[in-house]
Amino acid sequence: MFLGTVGSAASLTTLAYATRDPSETLAVRIWFSERAAGYDGVGDRVHEYLGATLALEHWKLEVSLGGSVSVSTEDAARLTARGEWPTAVAAGALDRRDLEPVADANLLVTDGGMERAPTGYGIPHIASVGGARHIAALEPFDELAGDDARSIVPYATPTRSIQVLVHEIGHALGLEHDHGVAFRDGEAVIPTPMLGSYVWDPAYETDRPHCGAAIPNTENRTRKLSLAFSSCARRDLATYEGGLFSDGTLQRVEPKAPGGADRDTAPNDRQRDRDVLE
Ligand SMILES: [Zn+2]
Repeated sequence: MFLGTVGSAASLTTLAYATRDPSETLAVRIWFSERAAGYDGVGDRVHEYLGATLALEHWKLEVSLGGSVSVSTEDAARLTARGEWPTAVAAGALDRRDLEPVADANLLVTDGGMERAPTGYGIPHIASVGGARHIAALEPFDELAGDDARSIVPYATPTRSIQVLVHEIGHALGLEHDHGVAFRDGEAVIPTPMLGSYVWDPAYETDRPHCGAAIPNTENRTRKLSLAFSSCARRDLATYEGGLFSDGTLQRVEPKAPGGADRDTAPNDRQRDRDVLE
């Protein structure tokens, strides 16, 4: 077994972010690889940024920290794509190990690099992403994004890392890349989380335009990032009817035999991330 929790129950903390007249709770829990957990403040930063970016009016947001887990690799995309993290979450849901999943999004953050794709991976309710050291280096959300409704931040490795984290949470909640848009603001082109760095990838094309907005020409334009989901993504999130494994995920990820962690449990290759740094 690669994954073993270290004090997950003891370090469990929950903060609720109340929004307007919430009827549902959206539960998001964050775990860290042992190496990722070693960066001072990384848990506080993830907590703070998700509190700001996921506090939508459709739900009462509960972001909690699940503690640290030992993993076989810091390669975050591999941990979900090859089944190790989904297997651990499923085992926790079945009370077979000391790991307590939540209903909506179970995110593992590792010390994986953010230079080479893929840097993260998301399937329904389960996702993983690298970049812990960069996220720990983020400035406070209010200093960076202010009170801008679009949460526009400068383009840098820490901000790109937290945007990929939000992107993977989006996948866990059912969003896809074509829920992302990019907009112009002065001389800058600014992608929302589900489009992210794809906006600068000449090879990126979508054959299923969902949100319908054309991607602006990025040539000679400044880069910035938005940490807020597009209005189109938020519309679809408003219809999110989650619940842990309510869509059959459990059957897909439950290990059939010891050593099953290498099974590729990704249900949909479209969700693979190739979020590259140019
Ligand atoms: Zn993606």
